[in-house]
Amino acid sequence: MVRPVLSLLRPVVGGASNLSASIPARSFSSTSRIMLATPAGGRNPFAPRTGPQKLTPGPVKTPNPKDTANTTAADAGSRRDGEVTSAGGAGADAWPDYSKGPSALDKASQLFFFTEIVRGMWIVLEQFFRPPYTIMYPFEKGPLSPRFRGEHALRRYPNGEERCIACKLCEAICPAQAITIESEAREDGSRRTTRYDLDMTKCIYCGFCQEACPVDAIVETQNAEYSTETREELLYNKEKLLANGDKAEAEIAANLQADHFYR
Ligand code: SF4
Ligand code: SF4
Repeated sequence: MVRPVLSLLRPVVGGASNLSASIPARSFSSTSRIMLATPAGGRNPFAPRTGPQKLTPGPVKTPNPKDTANTTAADAGSRRDGEVTSAGGAGADAWPDYSKGPSALDKASQLFFFTEIVRGMWIVLEQFFRPPYTIMYPFEKGPLSPRFRGEHALRRYPNGEERCIACKLCEAICPAQAITIESEAREDGSRRTTRYDLDMTKCIYCGFCQEACPVDAIVETQNAEYSTETREELLYNKEKLLANGDKAEAEIAANLQADHFYR
């Protein structure tokens, strides 16, 4: 009676190598049998056995009295007040200094008078009477930084002239290649764009175009609410960008003025 029970339990209590021996060989590949039978960090039982390794002790090194004196002096110098070191003063296993923490009386008073719970409940009470942090968007909106990078716009000078001089620096620096510019010279010799397309579906709002522009013509406004129902509506042309600039010129100028100190 006992022998059949032991033979059933043997795969469980007899170690991994017995377990692999009890499983039919065709259930696993040879690799998985080795992985199953090899304990982590242990020896592979399928590897050829070699004899026991003999370790030959090396020559005993006698410590130099000069080195010992220097090490002990350095340890004593680097050890902090109150630190207790192991015998010999090696300094490697120094105990941390607990003498500057709260005293046992402080800890006991905190434990018996529940001061941590009272302090926690006080914070809860404070928050209860504070105004809520949530806002009723879109009727209420939080503050935005002057550097906020939202929808793009092209600006004009106060006399209505376009700022952009078609230098194409913004097109060159755009990492998403979202800007396409074509230009021509006017009769007065000035150069202006004939086409300024911006693919907002490609834009990653890095702000490089704004930084590269020498005349502050292309800017990113604080408008982040321009979602559309079709992709085509996000392919902006020059007229759309100029209209954005006309709409938000006062806000753009105020933001550039607020940030000019850092540019
Ligand atoms: S914000 Fe960056 S990705 Fe978008 S158009 Fe300007 S340079 Fe290109
Ligand atoms: S928007 Fe600025 S950087 Fe881009 S082409 Fe016009 S002037 Fe040059």
